[in-house]
Amino acid sequence: MKVAILSRNAKLYSTRRLIEAGEARGHEVQVVDTLRCYMNMATHKPTIHYKGKALEGFDAVIPRIGASITFYGTAVVRQFEMMGVYSVNESVAISRSRDKLRSLQLLSRKGIGMPVTGFAHSPDEIPDLIDMVGGAPLVIKLLEGTQGIGVVLADTRKVAESVIEAFLGLKANILIQEYIAESSGADIRCLVIGDKVVAAMKRQAKPGEFRSNLHRGGSATLVKITPEERATAVRAARIMGLNVAGVDLIRSNHGALVMEVNSSPGLEGIESATGKDVAGMIISFMEKKIIDGKASSRTV
Ligand code: ADP
Ligand code: GLU
Repeated sequence: MKVAILSRNAKLYSTRRLIEAGEARGHEVQVVDTLRCYMNMATHKPTIHYKGKALEGFDAVIPRIGASITFYGTAVVRQFEMMGVYSVNESVAISRSRDKLRSLQLLSRKGIGMPVTGFAHSPDEIPDLIDMVGGAPLVIKLLEGTQGIGVVLADTRKVAESVIEAFLGLKANILIQEYIAESSGADIRCLVIGDKVVAAMKRQAKPGEFRSNLHRGGSATLVKITPEERATAVRAARIMGLNVAGVDLIRSNHGALVMEVNSSPGLEGIESATGKDVAGMIISFMEKKIIDGKASSRTV
């Protein structure tokens, strides 16, 4: 098969591993720099051009769209879809997962457990908003934040009020969340492919830090998850419409709560913590989807 990996950088660990895994299975793999794709949508035949040539003959695309280029990146994925190329994660699902508020609303409507979360636009109702999530300590998050940046733990009501006021004053979109103290700075990243959790790792924040992100100095180890946690992670990915997802869970006194569903989960941390060939599993999943797709389109 001819496979495009949409990625800005062929040297990134995840991109390299996907190339390696694809080639090991006999596929022709090309890394396509998302931002260098340009498109013609005014004709009856949608095309994508890249470095002066049309991209043609691809069977599948594996999108690795960074958060900062979601808008353009999902347009490129959509164009591949319009050309009839199978995408491992659909463009709509990627857009959906990038909107934290929309994701939390969708997940909560479907009964997925998550920390009590509030959001507001105007600074007038801050005291009520704080009460709504159960008072301090609480967590304040910038909606546009990633890798733990813009996630603040406010220990007291006074601190919470000033931080919320400051963020709203800057016209930043924020959400306010119950602080799950019993997680003790740990979360669990479940790597979901299709309807399975294929690998899971526990990330532990460094001492004195509550954010467990690896970019914030957290460390990752292999973890055994419960059947409930497994089911929750798979359901969360399915609700978001993602075939490949990194679902972050936090262990609370009342079970696993979903923090976030990531559409381009990094492979380095999870492969080294678990020793699993996650890239290879993504490629096998893709192969199966394309073969099944061809089989079903023959019968209609
Ligand atoms: P990002 O998307 O920037 O990674 P997250 O919402 O995932 O932001 O938060 C970063 C980290 O902070 C989480 O992985 C978790 O360890 C910690 N954290 C976030 N929210 C809470 C919370 N409500 N209670 C306890 N810890 C939290
Ligand atoms: N983008 C990374 C991932 O999805 C975040 C890693 C981290 O800082 O936790 O795995």
